[in-house]
Amino acid sequence: MNRTTIRRLQEQVYQANLELKEYGLVTATFGNVSGIDRASGIVAIKPSGLPYDQLSPEKMVLVDLQYNVLEGELKPSSDTKTHVMLYRSFEQIGGIVHTHSTYATAWAQALKPLPCYGTTHADIFHGQVPCTAVMREDQIERDYEEETAVQILETFQLYDYQQIPGVLVASHGPFTWGQTPEKAVYHSLMLETIAEMAILSLNITPGLKAIKKSLMDKHFLRKHGRNAYYGQPGKENR
Ligand SMILES: [Zn+2]
Repeated sequence: MNRTTIRRLQEQVYQANLELKEYGLVTATFGNVSGIDRASGIVAIKPSGLPYDQLSPEKMVLVDLQYNVLEGELKPSSDTKTHVMLYRSFEQIGGIVHTHSTYATAWAQALKPLPCYGTTHADIFHGQVPCTAVMREDQIERDYEEETAVQILETFQLYDYQQIPGVLVASHGPFTWGQTPEKAVYHSLMLETIAEMAILSLNITPGLKAIKKSLMDKHFLRKHGRNAYYGQPGKENR
């Protein structure tokens, strides 16, 4: 373990957790951010149930990809197994966020995927944000947090996690991810924003259809992928 790298990761994850709170995406302590150092396979994650004003970088709990706590007295977030399983499967991601933010959770509770109604959505998500199946009884009785990841991974057999960096877990709430913890928080904020916009649009025009494909593709692909041209060269663009 490279100490300097791990301290930097803890600092990054701590800052990302604070950002999540600042953006108003956290209700009470329902919200957590993690990050991974791919070289060592070490994950830093928010401790379980601790109020945000009591957090500090060194309190970010370190766990490995087999769920072992490597350092610290605090218990890691209760959602740790979900995060870790996603890191194991989605090999290109560096950060994960889970919240119960109001509008995204409203869609998750309604058991509905979030259709792409406009370019704000298409800038981040290349198509609808899927909603998982409702968890079965036997899954709830097994390892609940692992099964939450199973639900997500089953859903993403039909989607590309790099083109759709988020999901609505049925009856529960959203998970988002990105190349860094900060990016994952940004995706969480955008998911909440487009979830709210979608409800407003549907209020104005019930039965509204999704954005047309050419417009959706244009917006996503000018920002992402090989031929992206949005923003300044050499800079990471949002
Ligand atoms: Zn939750």
